[in-house]
Amino acid sequence: MTPPVLAVDIGGTKIALAVVTHDGSITDQLVRRTPRSNDPETIFSAVADGLRALVEQARVVGRIRVGVGSAGPIDTPSGTVSPVNIPGWRAFPIVERVSEVLVEVGRQPVVGLAGDGHCFALGEHWLGAGRDCDSIVGLVVSTGIGGGAVLDNALFAGRTGNAVHLGHISVNAWGERCVCGAYGCVEMYARGPALVAEARRNGWAGGDDAQALTADARAGEPVAVAAIDRGMRALAAGMVATAVELDVSTFVLGGGVGQAGEVIFTPLRRHLRDFAVLDYVADLEVRPAELANAGLLGAAALAFSRS
Ligand SMILES: [Zn+2]
Repeated sequence: MTPPVLAVDIGGTKIALAVVTHDGSITDQLVRRTPRSNDPETIFSAVADGLRALVEQARVVGRIRVGVGSAGPIDTPSGTVSPVNIPGWRAFPIVERVSEVLVEVGRQPVVGLAGDGHCFALGEHWLGAGRDCDSIVGLVVSTGIGGGAVLDNALFAGRTGNAVHLGHISVNAWGERCVCGAYGCVEMYARGPALVAEARRNGWAGGDDAQALTADARAGEPVAVAAIDRGMRALAAGMVATAVELDVSTFVLGGGVGQAGEVIFTPLRRHLRDFAVLDYVADLEVRPAELANAGLLGAAALAFSRS
């Protein structure tokens, strides 16, 4: 029987760890707040303590597979992470450090690393909205926009593990400068705070987050509706650029904005029709994510993919 794996999901606010069996069941799980510290070791202690606690539960003797999903950017050739929202970690050698912890407790580790957008796609492909598909693009739209692709049932990681960075595809070459340094990126129009900023520019005063904005749009407030519509046009253009490039027709949308329902999906699908005009992407389909913990389960899928 396939032994269970350890999955680690590292985000800016929390770190989740779990023991996951071959059928996707979580038998043990720990969630820690990500330590607010500039000391890399203080932050890592949350991961190390969790690993030590769970490796006992996994009842795996000898070799154990671990999948680590992390906020990006990451660098898979060196096994390091530099999460934008964890300033204390820059080029932090997460693969080496996780391996060390497991060796200390007498296990022989095999550690895989992927970005959180990639793990989201792996999780939704394995057990969520994309489980009937060989190829999907997973897309997380919240305060930022992340993504990842599973092509022919394997993660498309890219050279450094950052492939399908959909938020930073430019959809407006004459647009304003993005935080990344390029111009007119999808994220500048479609991420939650961008939707809110656009609505505020046009007089909306209903709140300061995307949840308030989508609630108002659902109630028919015209400025809120228009701001979301504009953002979804940018997202649609970026999605179709990705579909044209990868020849993938199923997208799974999650994240805070992605979970808002039809108020997002209806304008998004309408704009997709304007861009998805080539025959091979004309059937482009976007589905809501199904899993609450796609990133964690995706990290487990990554671990199972390691031999
Ligand atoms: Zn950008």
